[in-house]
Amino acid sequence: MPDPTAPASGPGAATAAWLERYEHALLTVFGRPQLVLERGEGAWVWDIEGRRYLDLVGGIAVNALGHNHPALVVAVSKQAGQLVHVSNFYTSVPQVELAERVLRLAGAPEGSAVFFCNSGTEAIEAAVKLARRTGRTGIVAAEGAFHGRSTGALALTHKAAYREPFEPLLPGVTHVPWGDVAALRAAVTDETSALVLEPIQGEAGVRPGTRDYLRAARAVTHDVGALLVLDEVQTGIGRTGTWFAFQQAGLVPDAVTLAKGLGGGVPIGALVTFGPQVSTMLTPGMHGSTFGGNPLACAAALAVLETIEGEGLLAHTVEAGEHLERAVLALGHPLVTGVRGAGLLRAITLAGDHAVALAAHARDAGFIVNPVAPDAIRLAPPLVVTTAELDLFVDALPGLLDAATAPATPRQDTTAPPDRATKDAP
Ligand SMILES: *Cc1c(COP(=O)(O)O)cnc(C)c1O
Repeated sequence: MPDPTAPASGPGAATAAWLERYEHALLTVFGRPQLVLERGEGAWVWDIEGRRYLDLVGGIAVNALGHNHPALVVAVSKQAGQLVHVSNFYTSVPQVELAERVLRLAGAPEGSAVFFCNSGTEAIEAAVKLARRTGRTGIVAAEGAFHGRSTGALALTHKAAYREPFEPLLPGVTHVPWGDVAALRAAVTDETSALVLEPIQGEAGVRPGTRDYLRAARAVTHDVGALLVLDEVQTGIGRTGTWFAFQQAGLVPDAVTLAKGLGGGVPIGALVTFGPQVSTMLTPGMHGSTFGGNPLACAAALAVLETIEGEGLLAHTVEAGEHLERAVLALGHPLVTGVRGAGLLRAITLAGDHAVALAAHARDAGFIVNPVAPDAIRLAPPLVVTTAELDLFVDALPGLLDAATAPATPRQDTTAPPDRATKDAP
């Protein structure tokens, strides 16, 4: 929420000036940014105008510990003063410790292994190369899937607007309707190298796969000897209330991709391969990364995992997510049709295409939310967000919905910086 001392209205000259410079210096792939952010603390961020916002997106499920968490600050500072990078001709203590810890948290059997990279896309690329080592070339993914933007990962991503300008992409990928077991059975054959699924489709609007669906995915891949790769880039690292979402389905995948929350904001991705057979399919020289697994990123990720464990954030994530769902539904607002997702990866679904307007009004009122679909906003706040902080948003939601759907909405331009302050700001 805007601080009472901050300018009460208008985009602010400083924001306008920086956005102008942004547009003259950065490739326009993201459209015009909405804010120029300067600092953060816990679940809050401040823009350069001094306005405060409750960050309910958390860098899109990245800032697991929130902003400026002392454990992450200390770990990164200490490691930066010690050793930032070495080539993969060498290893470091944080790298080995992080791999061991990820395997332990994943409940991975003896002989499992981790490959570190720098992003979710790269983790998917590693999974694609792993799949190729089956000697088959078919990959099955789901309609609505998002797996990244490189030309390999993009082939697995479903959205036509992302794919079509860059075709032809990696061949051999089939997309099946999400949640349809019969379609899975028909598409996954002895020519399939891997079935790649998100346990909860994040970018498609926080659409959970049911336990039965995910278990069927395990069964059909097992039957034809294809790999089951679960893309937990968004759902992993405690986001859904367990370390990994697959643990709630009670299955063991062949591989899992990780990134977003793993480094708490420091770039790191990982491919986890389960069991000795899958973990020996890529042999020396077959894959690599210059930065992947560097001591700085690994020290950051270790701090994230230690803090989630030490502060009991898995249980908190379950409770906070359930609290949010209950509180939103208890509003009984006619424009709210439901709450989807698990833990602190949620979508509030709306009766109509109001998400963009809602997100704009929310931002003006000091809440960062994401219009993930025309009729749904996504919340993926830091796992340290308190229920009291979530209640600030829930309490404001009816007013924001009314504003978003008022016939004389002042504007629906989501690209302009905030132009009004709210009286009910804390
Ligand atoms: C964000 C995301 C990716 C891509 O990750 P990047 O770090 O942006 O490359 C891949 N898969 C899923 C499920 C994601 O949410």
